[in-house]
Amino acid sequence: MMASHRSGFVLRELTNCLLDASCSACGTRLHGAETQRCYCDDCVQQLRPQEQHRCRRCSAECGPWSSIDRHCIYCRGRRLRFSQAVSLGPYAGLLRKEILAGKWSWSSARLEALARLLGERAAAQFREWEISLLLPIPQHWTRRLQRHFNPAERIGAELSRCSGIRQDLHVITRSRALKPQKRTPLGLRFENQKGSFRIVNSDQIRGQRILLTDDVLTTGATCSMAAAALMQAGARSCHVAVLARVTDGPG
Ligand SMILES: [Zn+2]
Ligand SMILES: [Zn+2]
Repeated sequence: MMASHRSGFVLRELTNCLLDASCSACGTRLHGAETQRCYCDDCVQQLRPQEQHRCRRCSAECGPWSSIDRHCIYCRGRRLRFSQAVSLGPYAGLLRKEILAGKWSWSSARLEALARLLGERAAAQFREWEISLLLPIPQHWTRRLQRHFNPAERIGAELSRCSGIRQDLHVITRSRALKPQKRTPLGLRFENQKGSFRIVNSDQIRGQRILLTDDVLTTGATCSMAAAALMQAGARSCHVAVLARVTDGPG
């Protein structure tokens, strides 16, 4: 186990070194501070677009006349159990392409580079929310057989490295394997997630201000059910950080 952990780490470092030489997205040669990010400045602009008019609750990009203070057209009427969410931007274009490539890669370097961009953007937000603990959305063990790593865990690890906030992998687990949310009709996604999380160690949760991490947020059902379990176990607050917000249509 230790050996495989260590070889994974070495591979990751090696990939990072290789990626340092050129932009992971477009292949342009990187210079100066760009090498820390693995992306050229032009690609960073696309991966982390300026926030135009973003909902504070679900992080959806909305039209200039929409209400965004308490909820927006994308999250109105949904009983979300986390307080607020932050993301790099909408799940589209280059950001979508990089997330997909990162999730299905043998290396987590790409997802970590994206998480670094998120960590830079959201640092002030994490301080404002007084986050004290990072928890990645756990995968059921059967999912782990299909992938090399849990994307949420790698994103959380990078956010932890950037912010200095501790990540814990042992307090919340999946209690059952789910039908993938992608194949579940939107209206049934909250139902599909019901009772799917189990708190293993509530001592570690009581009084904590928690940041849940995941790759994308769609209906918010997954993060909401995890937040509900954590709040019931005594967490003080739950916020969410994801790479991208998938808008699935109003309501
Ligand atoms: Zn580039
Ligand atoms: Zn919203």
